[in-house]
This record gives sequence, C-alpha cells and structure tokens, in this order.
Amino acid sequence: MSNFNCERCGASILEGPGGAYETGCEHHPKREPTGSAYRSTCQNCGATGLILAGTCRVCLTCGETQGSCG
Ligand SMILES: [Zn+2]
Ligand SMILES: [Zn+2]
Repeated sequence: MSNFNCERCGASILEGPGGAYETGCEHHPKREPTGSAYRSTCQNCGATGLILAGTCRVCLTCGETQGSCG
C-alpha cells in the first residue's frame, strides 16, 4: 500500500493491495483489485462505479449489491 499525489491535480491517491486505488481523482480513477472486473456495470442503475467488497460488488450510486453478499 502506498500513497502518491496526482501529478496533474495534486490529489492524494491511496494505492491499496493488488494495485487498486482506494481514493482517486479524474486522472486516476478508483480501481478494483487485480483479478476482478475493472468496470462492472450496475444492473440497477447502469453506473460503472461499483466497488468490490469481499465477493460482492456495491454500487456507489444506488447502493445496489451484486454477487455473494451473504
Ligand atoms: Zn488528478
Ligand atoms: Zn447502481
């Protein structure tokens, strides 16, 4: 895990395990960890801003969950 600042806008980016960005800016979008689909589309609202939470995905836009969320 490491931090760096975006060279273009100066935003502080936190890089998590697997190369995922846990925080992001317009130049460094948040990413899901390696091995998962980077762009998952929400089946409810069509947004692509899903985050991986264990084995399920959570839509940041509408809160819809997909996958095995228990
Ligand atoms: Zn930036
Ligand atoms: Zn959604």
